[in-house]
Amino acid sequence: MISEQIKRFKAELPEGVNLVAVSKFHPIELLKEAYSAGQRIFGESRVQELLPKIEEMPKDVKWHFIGHLQSNKVKALVGKVSLIESVDSVKLLELIDKESQNKGVETNVLMQVHVAKEETKFGFYPEELLKFFGDKRYASLTNVRICGVMGMASNTDDEERVRADFRDIYKVFQKIKENFGAELKHFNSVSMGMSGDYQIAIEEGSNYVRIGTAIFGEREY
Ligand SMILES: *Cc1c(COP(=O)(O)O)cnc(C)c1O
Repeated sequence: MISEQIKRFKAELPEGVNLVAVSKFHPIELLKEAYSAGQRIFGESRVQELLPKIEEMPKDVKWHFIGHLQSNKVKALVGKVSLIESVDSVKLLELIDKESQNKGVETNVLMQVHVAKEETKFGFYPEELLKFFGDKRYASLTNVRICGVMGMASNTDDEERVRADFRDIYKVFQKIKENFGAELKHFNSVSMGMSGDYQIAIEEGSNYVRIGTAIFGEREY
């Protein structure tokens, strides 16, 4: 039961750790069930799936975009979501800023950090991201708020590997916060942990866990 899972997570997650219910590939009825159980933050990974869901769900839902965002979808997305968690290039960040200027909105974003061993995962390598901040490339952005980092651990049963990955993501967050926190007033969020590894992620400093399968069951692609 979805409502039971939502309640279980609300009870289990420590204070200050937010639950993002990852509803991608699931029909609207299931999202409504989660909403009725009190869930307000939902994560989606495809713009063409997200937009109709926004129309069908109550207005107080906070939508997080968590998938790879293509440049040609930025226009459709900006102004619709409360957080874009998956900014994986400077070009994309600048595009989001520009579109936010055009629309007269401010867009909250997280920078995606790549630490996992898989080749296919998107994101900045830690040193790349630190260089981006070191070069003060963010200073020219006017309409994006950089609120923190998002990352995924390697897809493995090796818990120590997973923990080391989360630790690496958190270290990047901490370094940025230490060095640039005075200028980046909103830089407070660390989004890491999914159904299979969220406990470890929380132990390593996560304050947003992105849970799909453990709430909604297996996805049918
Ligand atoms: C699908 C997805 C999740 C949720 O994964 P589960 O294992 O189903 O909990 C979390 N984060 C991202 C970025 C995803 O794409």
